[in-house]
Formats: sequence, structure tokens, C-alpha cells
Amino acid sequence: MGKGFDGARAAEVVAELRETFRSGRTRSLRWRAAQLKALARMIDENEADIAAALYHDLAKPPTESFLHEISLAKEACLFALKKLKRWMKPRKVPTSITTFPSSAKIVPEPFGVVLVISAWNFPFLLSIDPVIGAIAAGNTVVLKPSEVATVTSSFLAKNLPQYVDNSCIRVVEGSIPEASALLEQKWDKIFYTGSARVGRIVMAAAVKHLTPLVLELGGKCPVLVDSNVDIKVVAKRIVVGKWGCNSGQACIAPDYIITTKAFAPKLVDALKITLEKFYGKNPLGSTDLSRIVNSSHFTRLKNLLDEEKVSGTIVHGGQEDEKHLKIAPTLLLDVPSDASIMKEEIFGPLLPIITVDDLEQSFDVINSKPKPLAAYLFTKDHKLEKKFVKTVSAGGMLINDAILQFTNPHLPFGGVGESGMGSYHGRFSFDAFSHKKAVLSRGFYGEIPMRYPPYTPLKQKV
Ligand code: NAD
Repeated sequence: MGKGFDGARAAEVVAELRETFRSGRTRSLRWRAAQLKALARMIDENEADIAAALYHDLAKPPTESFLHEISLAKEACLFALKKLKRWMKPRKVPTSITTFPSSAKIVPEPFGVVLVISAWNFPFLLSIDPVIGAIAAGNTVVLKPSEVATVTSSFLAKNLPQYVDNSCIRVVEGSIPEASALLEQKWDKIFYTGSARVGRIVMAAAVKHLTPLVLELGGKCPVLVDSNVDIKVVAKRIVVGKWGCNSGQACIAPDYIITTKAFAPKLVDALKITLEKFYGKNPLGSTDLSRIVNSSHFTRLKNLLDEEKVSGTIVHGGQEDEKHLKIAPTLLLDVPSDASIMKEEIFGPLLPIITVDDLEQSFDVINSKPKPLAAYLFTKDHKLEKKFVKTVSAGGMLINDAILQFTNPHLPFGGVGESGMGSYHGRFSFDAFSHKKAVLSRGFYGEIPMRYPPYTPLKQKV
């Protein structure tokens, strides 16, 4: 489904899926498990094609494709399969004196027909991962992958229908017109991954039908580096967290570093050495670095870079290759806070370093900006770590590394404030797509006369 997909067709698709949902088909453990197994099988049987699609869309190195998309998607499927029975079970909860005698439980209930709109930077994982949650929770689902990652989008449109139940799971390809046609419809839940700008459009569409939604957005993720660290390890982890994830085109990529004035030169040197070790003297020619996704993002990043070339903040990198949409890993030192690069999410291979006298000063600076999706701190100082966790607000945090918080299915993944609302992964995905129905049950005994009128003076005294 794609070209010619308009409001009328979108309404038909939703009606078909609603009918299936009402039939109760998606509710059984058996159906849910079968779909998850089918998804895992699709991933297994098409690993090479998925990696090839990601290479086409982003020149994503196959190792990155495997580590960050293919294996994580498969693990998410297997994890949900393993836990599904437990997640689906109603949970008994205590009762209160006012309802005595009674029993109380929370019954997870699928929302119904849900929409997943995903982004281009991890176009396979960010499509499959929410779909896993939607299916595990027993919903019917429409997936709209990003049109920017064309080949991955086609892969999903061609392959998903061959594996999963088409009466419940559909893929609609397309860009703004198709997404808008979908958003006009009444959904029972919308799960959106992408920019805050489009997130606002999605939220406005959801308001019309009072549809609950999860918004997985982005922002500027700070990395604080203390001087009390193992600098070689820090450099490796920052470099792989920034450039080893899609050349910085990741929502939780380090966006900027904050360190002390005294430590900055040592950190810059360590980062330079590591960059050269990982990507060679000519990083533009490295096959271990993804390219920029398209020419409009290349131009956006080039404009940021050109502004910094004039300001003279570039201390490493800065080379670009427009033909192949590549930009070398670039370090910028002491970028002024009013520079464009410090005002917008970079989403690319440029990494500004800001210096302060004392690292703790920066906690307030971070808290004065829109809340980031992730905040990182490198330190051996446990007191500083504690204060950082307590003081700084962010969707998630990772101490002494970058990115990896995303891979732990026991942690919720999501933003706060402008970096999003709601979360998913593991059990949180199941919860994101389930209504928690409160069920209180009583028998026909245990009557308390005081409850019932007439409220005589005697009853009022009791
Ligand atoms: P985007 O907002 O341009 O597009 C995302 C999706 O929205 C696509 O499927 C696209 O077709 C659709 N879309 C675009 N314009 C639309 C419109 N006017 N109406 C309806 N739908 C529309 O985002 P992107 O460029 O694909 O992704 C980059 C952003 O996403 C960054 O800000 C990044 O931080 C964020 N992101 C967040 C996460 C996360 O998990 N929190 C993951 C990846 C990316």
C-alpha cells in the first residue's frame, strides 16, 4: 500500500482492522505468539536483505546494522515471546476497607486499532519495535515507515505481509499525504517516532479524536565529562556512541560535550587519537561510517559547519564530500551558546565541546533548556554521579557510556518534556499498547446499612 493511498482508502483499512479486532482474533495468547514468532522468522530469514536495505538508505556499516537494528529487533521479539503469558495475566491487587469484602485486579486490555509512524534513522528497528509491542498487547496495527529510508520502507511493505496476519497488521508506505490520510482517522492509540515539529502535528490530529499517544522525539543530548575518569575508555565510548551510530544521526547520540576548561585539551586529544584509530586519516573514505541520509540533511549540516568555519571553533575534521553525502567526524571547541549548532538538535557527525569552570554548574544550564531524551556523565566520582541523577531531568541517563541504555529491555525508553511522552521496550511496550482495566468484584454479602438512605441521625453518628 502506498501510492494513491488517500483518506478514503485509509478509512477502509481502519474499518477492516477494526472489524478484525472486534472479532476477537488478536486477543489470544496463541495469535500474539504466532505473530511474534513470524516476525522473528522474518528477521532471521532476511538478515542479509535488511542489512542491504540499510546500506542503501544510509550506507550503514553491516556491523552497525546487525548490532543496532537486526539483533535488537529480534531480541525484542524473543523477549516479548518469553514474557507474553506473564504480561497478559490479570494482576491481583489489594482491596480497601471501603469495598470489603471484594477482590480487585488489573486486567490488561488491547486498545484496538493502533497506528505506528516511524523515523528514517533506524528505519528497521524503529518500525518493528513498536509493532512488537502493539501485537504483544493484542492490537491490530498499521505501520507507516519513513519514506526517507526508501529501501527499508519497501522491504517492510513487501515482506511483513508474507509473514504476519494481514487481516490485523498492515504496512502503508508514503510521505506527508499518506501520513496525513492516516492521521485523519480515528485510532485507539498512536505511536509516533520522529521530530518534535511533526510530533506537534501528530498530537494535534490525535486531539480531534481524543486518541492517546506515545511521542518518541529527540533533542540535544548532553555529555558531561569529569576529569576523574579513564580518558582512553571515555574517548572510545563517546566516539562509538556518536559516530558509530549512524554518524551521529541518532536520537540519543551525544549532541554536545560539557567539560572543564582545564580538562578540555586532554579530552580533545584523546577524541582525536581515537577517531583516527577507528576511522583512519581519511574518514570520508571510511566504510565504517554511515553517510548523511539525503542532500537536504547534508545541506542543513553543511550550513551549521560553515557557520563554525567562520567562527573558527573547528579543532578536528570539518571535511565534507557532497557527492557521497559524507561529513568527517568533527570536533568544535568553545562554541558560543548562541551559535545555531547549540540551538538545534545536530543529528549528524558534528560534536561541539563547551567548557565550564566547574561541572556542577552545567546541571542548571541543562535544566534551563528543553529536557533531553538522554543525558550522559563520565566520572569516577560517585557523589557527582548521585547529584547528576538527582538534579538533571532527562528521558534517560547513562553513566560512563553512551547509547547502551537503549538496549536494556528492563528499562523504559522514552522522553520527557519536549523529548517526548510515554515510553516503550520490553514490558513497557506491552503497557504502552494496553489499557489497564481496573476490575473490582464483590459478592452479595457484607452489607453495611450505613451506606444506604435514608441517612437517619443514628446512621450519621456511627
Ligand atoms: P520526521 O518528523 O521528519 O518524520 C518522522 C515520520 O513522520 C515519517 O514517517 C514521516 O513520513 C512522518 N511525517 C513527516 N512529516 C509529516 C507531516 N507533516 N504529517 C504527518 N507525518 C509526517 O522525523 P525524522 O526526520 O524521520 O526523524 C528525526 C527526528 O526523530 C529527530 O528529532 C530524532 O531525534 C527523532 N527520533 C527520535 C527517536 C526516539 O526513539 N525518541 C528515534 C529516532 C529519531
